[in-house]
Amino acid sequence: MAPGRVNLIGEHTDYNMGFALPFAIDRSTLLALSPSPSRSIAIASRQMSQKVEIPVEDVASVAPSSWARYPLGVVWALQRRKIEIPGFSALFDSTVPLGSGLSSSASILAATVCALNDLFELGLSRADLIDLCHEAEVEFVGAPVGYLDQIAVLSSHQGYGVLIDFLDLSTTETPLPQETMVIVDSRSPHRNVSGDYAQRRRECEEAAAALGVKSLREATPEQVEAELSGIERLRALHVTTENRRVLEAADRLAHQQPIGDLLNASHVSLRDDFAVSCRELDLICETALELGASGARMIGGGFGGSALVLGLQSDELQPALTTTFSQLNLPVPTAFRASSAEGASRLS
Ligand code: ADP
Ligand code: MG
Repeated sequence: MAPGRVNLIGEHTDYNMGFALPFAIDRSTLLALSPSPSRSIAIASRQMSQKVEIPVEDVASVAPSSWARYPLGVVWALQRRKIEIPGFSALFDSTVPLGSGLSSSASILAATVCALNDLFELGLSRADLIDLCHEAEVEFVGAPVGYLDQIAVLSSHQGYGVLIDFLDLSTTETPLPQETMVIVDSRSPHRNVSGDYAQRRRECEEAAAALGVKSLREATPEQVEAELSGIERLRALHVTTENRRVLEAADRLAHQQPIGDLLNASHVSLRDDFAVSCRELDLICETALELGASGARMIGGGFGGSALVLGLQSDELQPALTTTFSQLNLPVPTAFRASSAEGASRLS
């Protein structure tokens, strides 16, 4: 079993060596895995019609567009380390909505690597598992993601957020907000593997180069304001202010203080400076704030996906979303409670 995740705050900071504060949620990917006598891998998912059967030594030949690249990417990453896997059959079933910014991708990867580690007694450490999932998603699937999702899904503990410092991947547990947290799936699927995300990464690298620093982690908003202009200034402003918000949020949470205003500021920065929000996500956040939420922001890479709302119940929010989105002929988003959960583990 591996959970999905919500990132409380710290978006697009991971590949800039900054900070983020995610937690695992009680939506998860279940995996039943059994060894097989043949040297072949047979995988199926209750969420997909396409089943895949492939010889163990041939995993790299799976179709580039197949969902099976996620689990087979883990086998590929193991083989690259000269860790041989015998044949197996696997069936996945997930309650993490796919492509909604709740990291179904890290969830299916983590479920796979944990199950293989357990079943075939590979003796891999948590850090190895994180690296293998990251290698599979970046190098095999081709999604240029950072480490946030993998760490959140593999290292979270129920009731806590994980403050991650991406400079050395160190983690610190923090309390979570005491208010109710609600996830709203915009039902406007994001496109993580597409060009927008890669373009933002490039823009951040260019901004760092223009400032003469190795990564935007080393820059301050004041320096960005003074030295950059145009797109580089906007992208760097988001990253540098977001890093400050994450540290401020962790500090406030440690003292049981509210963080709604930090979530709001994060959303505005992602919308205006980083330009990764979309009409649906903006509308969800506006609707929630009008109803009296203490904070709301888009979560995940952006261009669709989900939003996180603080201080409202899902049944207070859902009717307003239904009315607003129906009137605009947009798909009605679904709101559900975000409960914190344990990271990936073996169920039986
Ligand atoms: P997110 O991680 O936000 O859900 P991604 O685009 O990163 O979105 O990953 C979604 C992709 O992960 C799906 O399109 C599919 O290829 C794969 N995936 C995730 N969960 C499953 C599952 N249970 N069964 C099959 N494929 C899955
Ligand atoms: Mg993903």
